[in-house]
Amino acid sequence: MALREERHRAVVIGSGFGGAVTALRLTQAGVNVVMLERGRRWVPGQAGVFPNPLKNPLDRRLSWRGTVPLPGSKNSPGLLEFFDGKGMDVVAPACVGGGSVPYHGMSLRPRGDHFTRVMPGALDYEAFAQTWYPRAEAMLRVGRMPDDVLASDRYRSSRQFAEYVRKAGLPEAAPVPMTVDWDVVRRELRGEQRPLISRGDVLIGTNGAGKHSLDTNYLPAAEATGRLDLRPLHDVTSVRRDDAGRWIVDVDVLDGAARLVERLRITTDALFLGAGTMNTTKLLLKARDTGALPDLPDDLGRYWGTNGDLLVTAVLRDRTGTWQGGPANVATLDWDNPDGPVTLLFAALPFPAETHAMQLVGMVIPDGHGSMTYDSARDRLRIVWPKEADAGAMTIARARMWRLTRAAGAVTVFDATRSAPSTFHQLGGAVIGKVCDPHGRVLGQRGLYVTDGALIPGSTACANPSLTIAALAERNAATVVADDVGSVF
Ligand SMILES: Cc1cc2nc3c(=O)[nH]c(=O)nc-3n(C[C@H](O)[C@H](O)[C@H](O)COP(=O)(O)OP(=O)(O)OC[C@H]3O[C@@H](n4cnc5c(N)ncnc54)[C@H](O)[C@@H]3O)c2cc1C
Repeated sequence: MALREERHRAVVIGSGFGGAVTALRLTQAGVNVVMLERGRRWVPGQAGVFPNPLKNPLDRRLSWRGTVPLPGSKNSPGLLEFFDGKGMDVVAPACVGGGSVPYHGMSLRPRGDHFTRVMPGALDYEAFAQTWYPRAEAMLRVGRMPDDVLASDRYRSSRQFAEYVRKAGLPEAAPVPMTVDWDVVRRELRGEQRPLISRGDVLIGTNGAGKHSLDTNYLPAAEATGRLDLRPLHDVTSVRRDDAGRWIVDVDVLDGAARLVERLRITTDALFLGAGTMNTTKLLLKARDTGALPDLPDDLGRYWGTNGDLLVTAVLRDRTGTWQGGPANVATLDWDNPDGPVTLLFAALPFPAETHAMQLVGMVIPDGHGSMTYDSARDRLRIVWPKEADAGAMTIARARMWRLTRAAGAVTVFDATRSAPSTFHQLGGAVIGKVCDPHGRVLGQRGLYVTDGALIPGSTACANPSLTIAALAERNAATVVADDVGSVF
């Protein structure tokens, strides 16, 4: 197959939080940007746009090119990539908008003391609190569920969770900041439009309006500058530097059935890696280990973690209701727990029938880190998550979770983190202070930047990660625009 070549000033790989923020701030600074996104655009607006794993767990649209082993999914540029790890499996998004499309939209800020405990020393919490979190929150349109919505019939299970929290003697549960348009939810509750979000239609994408995913804010704002060329179904296979110090990006261009239709090689002065924790780290490890970019730091692939997730489903004596109102929306922030801070949140389950089930997620600060290496024979990541990385932290999280499920009168508790450990909050691999400088510049590699969750060493301190990733990308982009645009590229 022939190779087509292009030359550009700046390329961003990936359209998730890090990539989208970077693309907006660069284009606003007058830089033309090509954004390469392997996944397709999903355009909500009617029922059935997104696959629903509860209705049809075999829907091949759930799987990115067969990584989730579903029949016929090799030819599916589906929404989720699955990584089979040792001690921990990982799920990563694959679509325009990255994780903001399948996510619930929980957008918690960590507390300053916890932030300082886990984040690289170069990051100043005050600056995040004053500038970077508010900037990201304004763009993402973050807001808490209003009282009238929480008081409605549909959200009875959220109030029930709050009641169990009270019984367990944990800090009062309250609505969490979310990227949800609560006026859409109100209209659904009043019967003025078809109930989607309020019926938990947020599992892997929301079929209608109401979720402020990146394809409704950062990405269209960047496109509106006229300087962003966003290319879906462009899967980057490798990156390297040429003798003149420019960046070479090899891309497989796919069609809607994930078939290769063209090979593209782009040369660029500045390359921003926003392919998410797993794939940014993979592209760098591959470049180092195949000799394309041998001078990358030894710490590449280290300081990786799961954000301390604990996934549990409790079956109660009490009824928990049909179509529990979504998305995940209330939490207890047990952050002064003397054993260690724990967040416990309620994640609604949109079943049409009574199941007595309550899905719960815990987040703690893990004790240590896992690692990723590159398997060149299979072109895959090898993921290792040692038990010691979170054994102590999980004991604390479970103690709190069992107190809650006991108070709820649980008959059975399924601990998915024990039986099949997996995460979708992965962070680290190319972290600040080890692989990158304090603003995401890869050490010793002029014009190469990391913009996504790979910068953060394994935890955003008992908070879901997307808001912190966006805030960090805002901070880094401001410095790059001020210092590197016009000089480095
Ligand atoms: C089901 C689910 C629910 C979640 N709920 C929440 C929540 O409520 N709150 C929260 O904070 N977080 C949540 N998360 C996690 C959150 O989505 C991630 O932390 C966040 O999206 C990571 O942002 P990022 O910028 O690092 O990368 P991502 O958002 O992962 O974006 C990376 C992008 O790069 C693309 N890409 C990857 N490799 C290549 C390549 N080789 N070539 C071209 N493009 C590539 C991917 O397709 C993707 O679009 C959830 C995740 C999932 C899967």
